[in-house]
Amino acid sequence: MAQQGILIVVSGPSGTGKGTICRELLRSNPYLKYSISATTRKPRTGEVDGINYLFIAKDQFKTMIEKDELLEWAEVYGNFYGTPCRYVLDQLNNGQDVVLEIDTQGAMKIKDKFPQGVFIYIIPPSLDELADRIYKRGTDSLESIKQRLSCVSNELVQARNYQYLVLNDEVPKAVQKIEAIIAAEKCRSERNIDLINSLCHANYTCEQ
Ligand code: 5GP
Repeated sequence: MAQQGILIVVSGPSGTGKGTICRELLRSNPYLKYSISATTRKPRTGEVDGINYLFIAKDQFKTMIEKDELLEWAEVYGNFYGTPCRYVLDQLNNGQDVVLEIDTQGAMKIKDKFPQGVFIYIIPPSLDELADRIYKRGTDSLESIKQRLSCVSNELVQARNYQYLVLNDEVPKAVQKIEAIIAAEKCRSERNIDLINSLCHANYTCEQ
């Protein structure tokens, strides 16, 4: 049986650049798999169904919850978002590492179910910079921008529930840090019990 893959959960306040970081991380590490979330939010310009999100209606989302098809779900800024189970479980069981880019509520639900996951929180260099990025992104309505900014302090408090904090001052540096975290996590002894056992049980005779 293949060794279980690692579940890597990435969160951070809106505008912190976690989407860009995840895209770059996946581009430079094609072995990583990305879980495409389902959402009831309307697509933004340039977003593609089945690539950025599975854009679905509220009643479809409700059905997914009822059928227990979501690993976690949460209401974020007035829309529903959730992680479809099947893809994530299949990948992990095949030994593939999976990246989830989800909010803090969802991340804490995942932490209960997968305490062995890796939880990374992306922080912005400053709140001014964060506000600036959200405005400049130009993808959200003024109402949505205000809602997102009003949630920032509550969001940032959650950072202490994550194992790792990564400052996003420059995307390549942030990506490098996440790569280093993943590399270190892969070396943890508890993730390599089979290797230790196989070495312990191998017979080696010293010939003199
Ligand atoms: P956006 O509307 O900016 O794409 O995403 C809004 C928030 O929802 C972000 O914090 C994003 O990480 C989060 N999100 C995206 N997909 C999921 C998901 O499957 N589950 C949860 N709980 N949050 C998600």
